[in-house]
Amino acid sequence: MARRLTAGARLVLATHNKGKLREIADLLRPFGTDVVSAGELMLPEPEEDAPDFAGNARIKALAAALASGLPALSDDSGFCVAALGGDPGVLSARWAGPDKDFAAAMRQVHDRMGNAADRRAWFVAALCLGWPDGHTETFVGRVDGTVVWPPRGDRGFGYDPMFLPIGGTATFGEMEPDAKHAVSHRARAFAQVIAACFA
Ligand code: IMP
Repeated sequence: MARRLTAGARLVLATHNKGKLREIADLLRPFGTDVVSAGELMLPEPEEDAPDFAGNARIKALAAALASGLPALSDDSGFCVAALGGDPGVLSARWAGPDKDFAAAMRQVHDRMGNAADRRAWFVAALCLGWPDGHTETFVGRVDGTVVWPPRGDRGFGYDPMFLPIGGTATFGEMEPDAKHAVSHRARAFAQVIAACFA
């Protein structure tokens, strides 16, 4: 059964990724949540060894909730390319290497796609709300679009500059934050969190 977060509740954002932190904090702002990040609490980053987004989101939310004694919201997400069989997928962060070089990661996607006619791609976000007693609830959002090359725009983070959402003319890297929130995988998962978990 869904547990409810009330206005003003303290909530840990179980991510060390600055782009995700910014977007989730934006999405939470209207709900008056008292947000603290895993980094501020100096929580360790657990190993993400599940085969899918939902499994990794659960690992992160549970680790943060158990370590902090507070409810924790995690995000596991990634960029999936049809011509690459869904890669980089759960390995999206790893393709950027230890230096988090997303220009190199985007080039790798482009190089591996070669001349593939199929340009379809999608982002997935699994958001998990974990509680200190071990209860978890996970919600998944997705946005479909196409790969563009060369990358366009310097907003957002990660693979945003090479993703054009269906029906759009601007890449995620060219969009204002609110425009991305109107359609993004993260915002779609977040809407489900709000419906199920906020009083
Ligand atoms: P992880 O969930 O920590 O494994 O990392 C997910 C990775 O997917 C991020 O480091 C980004 O590279 C990528 N990613 C997830 N969401 C987005 C997004 O909204 N825009 C661009 N890249 C994203």
